[in-house]
Amino acid sequence: MDTKLLPFAMQDVPRYTSYPTAVQFQPDFKGPTADQWLAALDPEATLSVYVHIPFCRQLCWYCGCHTSVPNSYDRAARYVEYLVRDIRRSAGRFNGRKGKVAHLHFGGGTPTYLDDLHIAEIVEAVDKGFGLASGGEMALESDPRTLTRERARVLAGMGFNRISFGVQDFATPVQMKINRLQTYGLVAAANDFLREAGFSSVNFDLMYGLPAQTVESVARTAQQAAGLKPDRISVFGYAHVPWFKKHQKMISDAELPGITARYAQATTIERELAAHGYAAIGLDHFALGHDELSKAAANGTLRRNFQGYTTDVSDALLAFGASAIGEFPQGFVQSARDTLEWSQKIDRNESPVTRGLATTPEDRMRADVIERLMCDLAVDPAAIAHRHGFPASVFEDAAQKLAPAVAAGIAEVSGTRISVPAKHRLFLRTVASAFDAHFVSAPNRHAKAV
Ligand code: SF4
Repeated sequence: MDTKLLPFAMQDVPRYTSYPTAVQFQPDFKGPTADQWLAALDPEATLSVYVHIPFCRQLCWYCGCHTSVPNSYDRAARYVEYLVRDIRRSAGRFNGRKGKVAHLHFGGGTPTYLDDLHIAEIVEAVDKGFGLASGGEMALESDPRTLTRERARVLAGMGFNRISFGVQDFATPVQMKINRLQTYGLVAAANDFLREAGFSSVNFDLMYGLPAQTVESVARTAQQAAGLKPDRISVFGYAHVPWFKKHQKMISDAELPGITARYAQATTIERELAAHGYAAIGLDHFALGHDELSKAAANGTLRRNFQGYTTDVSDALLAFGASAIGEFPQGFVQSARDTLEWSQKIDRNESPVTRGLATTPEDRMRADVIERLMCDLAVDPAAIAHRHGFPASVFEDAAQKLAPAVAAGIAEVSGTRISVPAKHRLFLRTVASAFDAHFVSAPNRHAKAV
């Protein structure tokens, strides 16, 4: 890595899956406000629904998700009972036209930790309460270790057409260090089962920055993953935050690759995927040419939300489950992270939302600027400000904030247009932070840029 890039690689910056980011959500946000926002949705609003399943069969040491390993399946069964109750409770407050759920996404945790019958029960509750649009997208995150040929058929029969797998790294020494043993053969078989069952889109997640990873191991993993031809591949850097995620203490600091090695691994994966026909999308996604993400990136309609890059253009995101984040035209809402608190609120027939943020017109304008930059690698902030009714002077401090990035070549300015050269896409978040009015540079507040 060029030494002038080093300070930018080390910087802690938000992921910008939303703006303002979740760090800004207010802890005294009232649940009834979330219900009011739901009730006030335009009757013709298109919807996206996110369902969070916070359970896994086994904990991966690198995991940064909100999940746990239950002592028995009973806990998950009770969780589903509450989830369905909250979906029904929310549907009772919804005044919109049914049949407008264009995207249903199960995330976690491992949604396929649940029995098929429980998954079907949740899908049915969403469909009865809000109405799934015909031809819509139904996606779930999964663990290839929980997928059989029969399961793939059953999930496809329920309507699921998109799936995402955690692959991370195929090298056994890496898998042993992260407590996630899954052979290449197991992932290849799961991939075959999904294709046979008719899934139209398969995504693999890969990681860099894990213990025992080398440039050679990530190159080999990228080649093997690409050889299975998933439609999309997402690549994430491991964020080591053991003071926040206690199980990460199982990963020794001393075994982690340094920043220069992380950069070399990330760029190696990018090169390998490009060599196998994958187009780079935004910050960290890669897709084959036929995939909707590639098309959206090419025609400027790519979006970014809590699930990463997407083609979802829904008017609102309804979220169910502990810690789940939803979005309305007025702002963001987040359910209680603690499952007990979450279920007690549902028991009282209340909204389980405990955090949130009413966004301002300026927040929405800045969100637009940041989203276009994160998606297109270029933006005209003055034009977006104008469209939202703000003077271009609202960004008068941006030039000064961007000056170091421009000097290092990771940002370019042409008239009122700001862009990030494709070879520096890893630094997109750093450039985006120049347009973030809430951003405070502080160690350990966000993930490192690289
Ligand atoms: S399977 Fe996924 S969510 Fe579960 S512990 Fe592993 S990384 Fe975390």
